[in-house]
Amino acid sequence: MQTRPNLRRQGMSDQSLHCLWCGSSDSEALFPFSDIFGDSWLLHRCRQCECRFLDPIPDAIQLSRAYGQDYYGEGEKKFEGIFEKVISGFRKRRAAKVSRIAGRKGRILDLGCGNGEFLLHIAQKGDFELHGIELDGNSARRTAQHSEISLQVKPLAKGDYPENHFGVITLFHVFEHLANPAETIGIISNILEKDGILVMSFPNIASLQAKWFKGNWLHLDPPRHLFFLPPKAFEKQMKQFGFEVKRRHWSSFEQNPFGFQQSLLNTISPKREILFECMKGNKDYLKDVSKFRLFIHRAFFYCSFPVFVVCDAIGSLFHSNASVLYVLQKSGEPQNISTS
Ligand SMILES: [Zn+2]
Repeated sequence: MQTRPNLRRQGMSDQSLHCLWCGSSDSEALFPFSDIFGDSWLLHRCRQCECRFLDPIPDAIQLSRAYGQDYYGEGEKKFEGIFEKVISGFRKRRAAKVSRIAGRKGRILDLGCGNGEFLLHIAQKGDFELHGIELDGNSARRTAQHSEISLQVKPLAKGDYPENHFGVITLFHVFEHLANPAETIGIISNILEKDGILVMSFPNIASLQAKWFKGNWLHLDPPRHLFFLPPKAFEKQMKQFGFEVKRRHWSSFEQNPFGFQQSLLNTISPKREILFECMKGNKDYLKDVSKFRLFIHRAFFYCSFPVFVVCDAIGSLFHSNASVLYVLQKSGEPQNISTS
């Protein structure tokens, strides 16, 4: 994922708090919550732009731990067995959709490209020149094995690519990891060609799941998810960067049903994300979890998944799902950016 530690450190007073999106110091604390490593955080709401952001911003040690081998997976794949196959199927479906939107050709950049599988799938759907960005780690090493992908192993920065270079840029659940999100969107706007397509998906902080589960919501994913823009605020901000919203997709079998299940389990378990870490094979995190509890969590997952698929379908009618995917088009140049 595309992220780097910011400079704000734990223990500093509220006067040093600045919104991660717009930089305003006018914010309110919403609720506290903990991560799987035992650290505590506050979620703040910016009164200027409605961004929710993590307080404090995690330091380098916390981020390095959060993006360690347990995050990327230790073996050839991030997830265990059948889960990786299912997620691979989602990537294939996503590639087919983006290929259609892009007209089945062009130069594409995937920010946070993971193991590169999405790019490899899209190459089979049309005539694409493949570019990926991923931070150093097992995922980047997996992508580097594919010579057809031009890989950058560092965060996106100004000058990395020429202006108007890409026809399509994608960020699938990467936006919320960015340490300098407005700056990154400005760079994306610059390297995307006129009428180019930007596809972004991210957790919906205005969703029913986020409101119901608060600190137990799976997609808070502390300390990796640094900020959240509610969809309405996101659309307003992206307009200022010269983007026009073409489509919104609220339903996601990949993100939403499981988000509901894991968040529910978090509310009744002594530690969060037991099922999710189990899927990633994080044995160290699960060493004090009994086999019986693991069995119950797995049984709940398999038995109740169809129920939550129905919940996702209903939620999409009301635009209240736990994640949202946007298709945006660069229709103009960025205005004088005032993020408030
Ligand atoms: Zn703000």
